[in-house]
Amino acid sequence: MSETNAYFVAVIGAGPSGLFGARELANQGARVVVFNRDIKPGGLAEYGVYPDKHKMKEGFRKQFRQALANDNIIYYSNLTVGAKGDFTLDDLRSLGFQAILVTVGAQSSKWLGLPGEDLKGVYHSKPVVLAYNLLPPYDEQKFDLGKRCAIIGAGNVMLDLAYYFIHEIKADEVIAVVRRGPAEVNFTKEEMTRSIANLDLDAFEAEMKRVTPALQAVNQDPEVGRNKVLAALPKAEPKFGDTRFRFEFLSSPVQMIGENGRLKQLEVEDNILVLKDGELKSRGTGHKRILDVDTVIFSIGDKVDASFGLPSDSNEFLKNPNPRYPVDGLSYEVFDPNTNATIPDVFIGGWARKASEGLVGYARKDGTNASKAVWQYLQTLQPTTPNLEGVAAKLKSLKKPIVTKDDIKRLEAVEAAEAQKRGLEEFKFATNDEMLQAMGLNVTA
Ligand SMILES: Cc1cc2nc3c(=O)[nH]c(=O)nc-3n(C[C@H](O)[C@H](O)[C@H](O)COP(=O)(O)OP(=O)(O)OC[C@H]3O[C@@H](n4cnc5c(N)ncnc54)[C@H](O)[C@@H]3O)c2cc1C
Repeated sequence: MSETNAYFVAVIGAGPSGLFGARELANQGARVVVFNRDIKPGGLAEYGVYPDKHKMKEGFRKQFRQALANDNIIYYSNLTVGAKGDFTLDDLRSLGFQAILVTVGAQSSKWLGLPGEDLKGVYHSKPVVLAYNLLPPYDEQKFDLGKRCAIIGAGNVMLDLAYYFIHEIKADEVIAVVRRGPAEVNFTKEEMTRSIANLDLDAFEAEMKRVTPALQAVNQDPEVGRNKVLAALPKAEPKFGDTRFRFEFLSSPVQMIGENGRLKQLEVEDNILVLKDGELKSRGTGHKRILDVDTVIFSIGDKVDASFGLPSDSNEFLKNPNPRYPVDGLSYEVFDPNTNATIPDVFIGGWARKASEGLVGYARKDGTNASKAVWQYLQTLQPTTPNLEGVAAKLKSLKKPIVTKDDIKRLEAVEAAEAQKRGLEEFKFATNDEMLQAMGLNVTA
């Protein structure tokens, strides 16, 4: 089929922001090629959202299938884009792509740089979550998870991990170590309903009593925090097993203490709250305590992968503060400090624009808005003849199996049949090779 003239756009990453961004551009009439690292589309909606949320995940998958069904979208996966990827951004430019939308998410982990982070038993949430969601190759990594776990953080991911330690690890104790107070927790009531029945309410009240003077010192009514944490009680899901779930508020990790390379204890420092620039921040008091735990999971957010090759600061790609095409007042453009200017043809959206920000609905909106900025930029150019042959030739030269939309349909059918055969709600192959074989692709191509 000969190609008619159209704007020719590459979207890097097929998480929610990339898929909805691609759909927006395709609906405008652009010819869009989506390049994705993971074989399956969906990003963290597929590999982050907790595995037993079947209905939610299936709902997302349905929307992703609909987006990918658009004839203006081509999907290639099992490849990477980036400075050290199968395609560099310059490769894409020389193939004739007129704009590049980067929606690769936030692939690196934030660490605090504390002593003991390298001990066995100390992990970041991301690889643990990706492993229990069966994303190759993370699912082949071995984690030494024990029965007394401290999770550092106060968001929904902390709660997902608490749920995992209650239901799968069947831990004796899960402690959420929270830098600020109960009123500043970041998780939703809905997520808390899943684990609140395991919350040790006596321990919670004792903890409230311990931190009340610090809350009152900033004129905070302790009831605000108490109500926020306990709001999930009326809709609590049934208690599971004997895991005791509790909070350590106003506490920051100081160091992990080990023996023979394995974690034995976590040292935390007590905090007070201080008002700074209109926001309540934590400040260490110097008073330290020891928690006897055998596992520490840092659930403090992700950061972008600096090796992708776009200019970045410690956590995020650099955005042009004065965008040419702002959408809802936000910048979707990358700023290059070397040239002191925007990189004209590169745009960012979703978690690649703002790491660990919001849920799937947010990523969807952000990817769509990023595409609106891309579309405005394209209006300054002439449509072109999309060089699909050139892209196909480059893919062939990679000498590895490349996955297309039709392959994904076959994989989904095989996995659905396997789930039915095994009487499971859902079945996922655990390795890329198994997925490629199920799609009938030559693993060593
Ligand atoms: C543990 C956890 C639980 C969550 N639970 C929920 C929930 O219950 N409900 C909810 O609504 N939201 C949930 N979220 C949030 C939601 O998953 C995110 O908001 C959303 O997935 C972000 O979308 P994104 O497209 O920006 O990035 P991602 O989803 O991270 O997608 C990035 C995509 O880019 C691809 N990629 C990465 N690097 C490259 C590269 N170099 N080249 C090519 N492709 C690349 C990846 O393969 C991936 O497909 C959860 C998140 C986490 C971490």
